[in-house]
Amino acid sequence: MDFSWNEEQLEFKKRTIKFAQNELCSNVLNADKTSQFSTKDWKKCVAYGIQKMASIKPYGGAADKIDLLSATLAMEAMGYGCKDNGLPFALNAQMWTVQMPIVQFGSKLQKEKYLNGMATGKLIGCHGLTEENAGSDVFSMQTTATKVEGGYILNGKKCYITLGPIADIAVIFASTNPKVGKWGITGFIVEKGMKGFSQSSNKEKMGMRTVPFGDLMFDDCFVPDENLLGKEGAGWAITSHTLEYDRCCILASQLGAMERQLEESIAFVKKRKQFGKSIGEFQSVSNRIADMKLRLETSRLLLYQVAWLKNQDKPAMMEAALLKLQLSESFVTSSLDAMRNNGGRAYLSENEIERNLRDAVGSILYAGTSDIQRNIIANLLGL
Ligand SMILES: Cc1cc2nc3c(=O)[nH]c(=O)nc-3n(C[C@H](O)[C@H](O)[C@H](O)COP(=O)(O)OP(=O)(O)OC[C@H]3O[C@@H](n4cnc5c(N)ncnc54)[C@H](O)[C@@H]3O)c2cc1C
Repeated sequence: MDFSWNEEQLEFKKRTIKFAQNELCSNVLNADKTSQFSTKDWKKCVAYGIQKMASIKPYGGAADKIDLLSATLAMEAMGYGCKDNGLPFALNAQMWTVQMPIVQFGSKLQKEKYLNGMATGKLIGCHGLTEENAGSDVFSMQTTATKVEGGYILNGKKCYITLGPIADIAVIFASTNPKVGKWGITGFIVEKGMKGFSQSSNKEKMGMRTVPFGDLMFDDCFVPDENLLGKEGAGWAITSHTLEYDRCCILASQLGAMERQLEESIAFVKKRKQFGKSIGEFQSVSNRIADMKLRLETSRLLLYQVAWLKNQDKPAMMEAALLKLQLSESFVTSSLDAMRNNGGRAYLSENEIERNLRDAVGSILYAGTSDIQRNIIANLLGL
């Protein structure tokens, strides 16, 4: 295992941090307050080349194969440089749960039509798996796809979908054969404007408010055969595959955010004086800083390990679950520690400290809750 980065990758990381700091940090406070998605910032990311990192040649990508290590590093840099945790989260959601499954399982026509569009910012994609009654137990989904001549008729509803309200396309999963449970789950690509497909408006939420979030509804929605993703019944395999990448890359930005948070916390506890000395000299405070550092570095090792394994197309089910559990829980705990260290000022939104805590909580829920990650780990340990 070799986690050393080459000069080119380190240079790219530095450049990406600069790009994010200079281009993506204006108006974050207000955008969070008003739950505003910035199409302009999304397009800046396209121009910089973020979305195309999850595509391949000749469909808008730079190479025949996705360089997952460089992409992970770039997303870490985005999380560090961009104070809005929502934007990197939304980018990751599209890149790893929409672009990636199309790269891996899409037909030539689908790649031409959708990958180019997402890499160049003409299309925004979302991923619809969860339903009201099928969250952790997602393969008990009730959305159905009935075969008819030339395609399928979809009925059902998907919930809590990142980018759902504004997406131009959605990779969604439905049952083509409810009798066989997860073996009857099939993937489809649905386009905005298809008859019977509708999207809710943005739903107000606790954190990552700059990312639209909502439901996708299917009411006798006809989807042509050419929009079947992979084979009929391959939905479970596609999803399991996608989730490993998702758990790796979606959290890379959070690692960057945790590093930024730690640096800001250190600077503050050095500067802030109480009882005639810097509060960082009090062991209760410095212990919290030490714990934040430990969480950051253990998360970093797990992240790089998963990226390294997936970059070589190796399975990483256990490692991805360990990473998802560790990094998401760490960001929540460290965000709370940052609040404790900053005292009352942390409670005021204007100081941009409490937002991390609100943003962090989503990560212990999406892509499999922490309980589900523990279940995966325990199962793989034979329990
Ligand atoms: C910010 C955010 C973004 C999201 N984006 C998307 C998206 O883009 N696309 C999408 O499809 N979904 C998305 N989701 C939905 C997310 O994947 C689900 O919320 C998640 O899988 C949990 O499902 P649930 O909400 O139905 O909770 P439930 O499954 O009802 O879980 C409730 C509680 O029960 C526990 N629980 C359930 N089953 C078990 C078990 N077997 N063992 C132990 N504990 C268990 C859970 O851990 C949790 O504590 C998003 C969610 C959030 C918060």
